[in-house]
Amino acid sequence: MSLDFGELTFSLTQTRSMYRARCELGGEWQPGELQPFQNLELSPAACVLNYGQGLFEGLKAYRANDGRILLFRPAMNAARLRNGCRRLSMPPVPEDIFLSAVHDVVSENADFIPPNNDGALYIRPLVFGSGAILGVAPAPEFTFLVFTSPVGPYFKGGLTPIRLLVTQDFHRAAPKGTGGVKAIGNYAPGMLASGHAKLKGYAEVVYLDAAEDRYIEEVGAANFFALFGDTLVTPALNGSILPGVTRDSVLQLAAERFGLQVKERDVSINEALGADELFCSGTAAVISPIGCISHEGEDHQFSGGEVGPRTRALYEALTAIQHGDAIDEFGWVVDV
Ligand SMILES: *Cc1c(COP(=O)(O)O)cnc(C)c1O
Repeated sequence: MSLDFGELTFSLTQTRSMYRARCELGGEWQPGELQPFQNLELSPAACVLNYGQGLFEGLKAYRANDGRILLFRPAMNAARLRNGCRRLSMPPVPEDIFLSAVHDVVSENADFIPPNNDGALYIRPLVFGSGAILGVAPAPEFTFLVFTSPVGPYFKGGLTPIRLLVTQDFHRAAPKGTGGVKAIGNYAPGMLASGHAKLKGYAEVVYLDAAEDRYIEEVGAANFFALFGDTLVTPALNGSILPGVTRDSVLQLAAERFGLQVKERDVSINEALGADELFCSGTAAVISPIGCISHEGEDHQFSGGEVGPRTRALYEALTAIQHGDAIDEFGWVVDV
């Protein structure tokens, strides 16, 4: 294997092996097996190809400085995946099968995990209706897959604030829709919105809620946070917001490590424009400071366009736990 860990970005580098399990409609998941990373064979009538019956997860394995391999709260990904399966009429993958699949793929591909500061091994579980069906109904057979790819650090030269555009043209998710689960069908529609923002020089879009067009929902595929003095606010989980593992961890760290007041509630765009610091969170983005938001044709700056002190402290505390560089009083980190 000739892999230059120093050159990694967030892109696919295929690894040795992947995990695959199957389940019939009405049946139960049986433990699957590792096999070489390879293409899949699917019927043209596979439910996932025709009707989008599928979802994904995303988590990372880190290489600690002492050589241990660490996962961050994988049981939360397992639980979110089960919720998503129920929403999409797929049989939920049991937690023990999910966790052992992740464990096995990571151990088999451990030589692809970058050293502590060069990135992580991104883990991508998928569940989809692989069986053929013509009518709009659940597939007769389902597949659970886990593949991995080494990825670089999101911020190569340290934390850099991003510039965002509030989109007036698109909503991400509707009340009572599927925004709260990682349904594959939620993501292709966002590509056009992100593409428009990038053409105008912004890193991503900020989505407002579909009912009133007033309250902030998410930033692309990351959760949104605003700091007002000693209060950290994030939109409440109302069904259209994805319950991020990073989001939940930031809320706990902010309250328990930093003594901030944390509030999960509606945040209007107008309120957010008056915040002291803004950032967004996710497994890929970790914690990304927001330096500027463009709304109705006007640019608004935060923390003078620099990284806010609270944002930096939360980033450092979170990544130190994830990478095994700090004591994990929460019991979040799991050894592989
Ligand atoms: C995955 C995802 C997130 C972040 O979730 P994490 O568990 O923190 O990675 C936020 N928003 C959307 C829409 C997502 O798909």
